[in-house]
Amino acid sequence: MKTHVLIASVLAVLLPLTPTPAAAWGREGHRIVAAIADAHLNPQARQEVARMLSEIEPGASMESVADWADTVRTRGTSHWHFMNYPKGDCRYQPPVECADGNCLVAAFDRELAVFRDHSRPLAEREVALKYLIHLAGDAEMPLHDWAPDRGGNGYQVQFDGRGTNLHHVWDTELIRRYATATPDGKSEEASAGARLAAFFGRRDASAAEAAARPHYQAYTKQLISESFQLPFEPTTDPIVWTQSACRVANRPGIYPDRRVISDGYVDNWRPTVELAMIEAGLQLAQVINESYGTPHDSTLDRGAPATTPNERRLRDRIDKVFDHNSGTSDGS
Ligand SMILES: [Zn+2]
Repeated sequence: MKTHVLIASVLAVLLPLTPTPAAAWGREGHRIVAAIADAHLNPQARQEVARMLSEIEPGASMESVADWADTVRTRGTSHWHFMNYPKGDCRYQPPVECADGNCLVAAFDRELAVFRDHSRPLAEREVALKYLIHLAGDAEMPLHDWAPDRGGNGYQVQFDGRGTNLHHVWDTELIRRYATATPDGKSEEASAGARLAAFFGRRDASAAEAAARPHYQAYTKQLISESFQLPFEPTTDPIVWTQSACRVANRPGIYPDRRVISDGYVDNWRPTVELAMIEAGLQLAQVINESYGTPHDSTLDRGAPATTPNERRLRDRIDKVFDHNSGTSDGS
């Protein structure tokens, strides 16, 4: 009995059983969404966004500011990051889901008005831009549109033999796993090294470690590339974004069997998670582009096969996103 109590209290200290509610897509998820949006800005929007960021925060990029809003959360702004749709009901009813305008969609609309108001000081508009970048990501995270268990924060699960909660799995762990499995030069080399080491019965810790490391930059590039092939007409209404994510949260199977996140679960939800990030990026780009005239970048044929000149322009575009960013951080 005593031992149990002791173990329980040690675990309570060691395991982040109840992290801050609704921590949002983790840092990397937000950065991926921002990088996808960045790749889809039209030339004028790209120039204006770059000017705004460089005047207020020299060296900043859409990616680097994407998770800023999570670092300045207060009691007054924490509700801006989610919508409390009850189970089985994705209707938006402002008095229920957005009392006093204190919810994601209302915050997004307010920040959008500030961003588009050229009479406001540039510093205010830049803060608004940072909220738009962030909240467009949160809107598409299904558990940010799900009231039960505080968006899954209160639902304990096992992942990789550790205790965590369902919200954290969706925020961070799934994306980390997908980025680790992404084929790119580095990770292939590393896993080849690990396979060789295993074959010769050696324990090559560094090769195994390298194989297990997420490669967020390669993963981001892959998703940007896919985002150009998707026949998807982005809407600019944050209510619609949160409702479609709410419907995902209501799909059977999002709560794992026996509270264990299996490899099957990780694989099953991969297309959903990736589509959510891509949609968020395209929707965010559309909102910013519409603020500066032409909604699409006419220099790229979206949805066209990635061959011939379109492929070259696409590759240039992806390189450009990474040139002016210090780069999505790799590693853990
Ligand atoms: Zn957030």
